[in-house]
Amino acid sequence: MGDDPTAVAENLRRAFAAIGLRAEEAVTAWLIHGNRVALVEAHHRGKLLEGVDGLITAARGLVLFMRFADCIPVLLAEPALPAVGIVHVGWRGLAAGILEAALDAFEVHLGCRPSTLYAALGPGIGGCCYAVGAEVVEALRPRLGRALPLYRINGAWHLDLPEAVRLHLRRLGVPSVIAAGVCTACHLEDWYSHRAEKGRTGRFGAWIRNP
Ligand SMILES: [Zn+2]
Repeated sequence: MGDDPTAVAENLRRAFAAIGLRAEEAVTAWLIHGNRVALVEAHHRGKLLEGVDGLITAARGLVLFMRFADCIPVLLAEPALPAVGIVHVGWRGLAAGILEAALDAFEVHLGCRPSTLYAALGPGIGGCCYAVGAEVVEALRPRLGRALPLYRINGAWHLDLPEAVRLHLRRLGVPSVIAAGVCTACHLEDWYSHRAEKGRTGRFGAWIRNP
């Protein structure tokens, strides 16, 4: 936050270079914690798509990229087609149905059923560090019901967001969900955490390339 845009662009260029990519090859999104998912095609290469929290593509060689600091990066792959997706999932997006929207987009646009998808969750804020208010619990109950992974720590509700995302993906029919199991707020030496750094933080990138 408050960083010089030129420095941000240069950091992004370096990050891409480190993994053998050019920023012009990737498609990224301006995230809004909503439930819209875009089908990305070859002509979107190098573009920033606004107002979406999910990107999916079947275009060969395309890279989908998003930035995170506590919300869960969800990477999706359908190796047979092949097709890939990336989804930004915080509590608002989870409550708004971003995962349902992503799975629908795979099915409607690409003909992939949830049962053929593989999902991987990147680092995000863990139940250890994520105290939440009643509004979060009330927003998520309709989606997750009694499965909502909540803990009481020192009198406060804590949400295990990665576990909520994993459980919900399984309930929506994705058979294979693996999770990094790394809490961003516990590991500020390696990751950025919006919560632990009180909003003044960077973002780390997550990306997936369609083979
Ligand atoms: Zn933690």
